[in-house]
Amino acid sequence: KIELSAIRKTFDSTEILKGIDLAIEDGEFIALIGPSGCGKSTLLRVIAGLEPQSSGEVRIEGVQVDGIRPSARNLAMVFQSYALYPHLTVFDNIAVPLRMRRHSALARTPVVGRLHPGRAGTERGIREEVERVAAQLELSALLKRKPGQLSGGQRQRVAVGRAIVRQPVGFLFDEPLSNLDAKLRVHMRAELAQLHRQLKATFVYVTHDQAEAMTMSSRIAVMIGGHIVQIGTPAEVYENPQDIRVAEFVGSPK
Ligand code: ATP
Ligand code: MG
Repeated sequence: KIELSAIRKTFDSTEILKGIDLAIEDGEFIALIGPSGCGKSTLLRVIAGLEPQSSGEVRIEGVQVDGIRPSARNLAMVFQSYALYPHLTVFDNIAVPLRMRRHSALARTPVVGRLHPGRAGTERGIREEVERVAAQLELSALLKRKPGQLSGGQRQRVAVGRAIVRQPVGFLFDEPLSNLDAKLRVHMRAELAQLHRQLKATFVYVTHDQAEAMTMSSRIAVMIGGHIVQIGTPAEVYENPQDIRVAEFVGSPK
């Protein structure tokens, strides 16, 4: 569970996040939508620990995470630029978090205990884990390639694979599909929704694409000007927009 209370963030004396309260339940797929510049990425970065909030609290699994470094928050971030290492193979890109593994203060159980016991830190344990995840994402045939030899969708899946091997308590996606062409984007929507069902993990999904949010998520939080102005199921938000700004943004009828 990820709980935000009264999160505020000021950049250069401009308040960007103006008091965000949000409780994200275990296993839910929540989309955070809103116009460009409304503060979505900033909020995600605050949750991840990449940016300190100016005030307010973030709790992950009940732990107040102020001062806890991003890697120890046990959340996986997937950005639009996948930030793969160009000189490493697909295998090695996915293996990076396993090789850098440290005991995490926030893991529900010791991190090592959630992999194949006793072998998690060995080359063999890493190989098994990478191969398992690659199979899940249909990347098994591509493990020896480098990112430059992959399509956009394949690179995307490698980035997701690298996130999955960490067995995080939640995934934070920031417009992960926005660099893909329209056809692939629709395909990847279905893939991510499927992945969510498979993993039963918590997904926080930032997008400014309403259609994406509507089709994938179980709840939508609409953010405008640093506030969450409405939160509900896609149908609730679409059929019953809180105000004209939400109606315009989600394209509700009349
Ligand atoms: P988009 O949909 O375009 O990605 P967003 O909702 O993700 O938009 P943010 O990236 O959170 O928006 O930015 C919100 C506001 O905060 C913008 O006005 C942006 O210019 C400003 N901002 C973000 N990061 C910084 C920073 N490091 N320093 C100063 N201002 C920033
Ligand atoms: Mg953004």
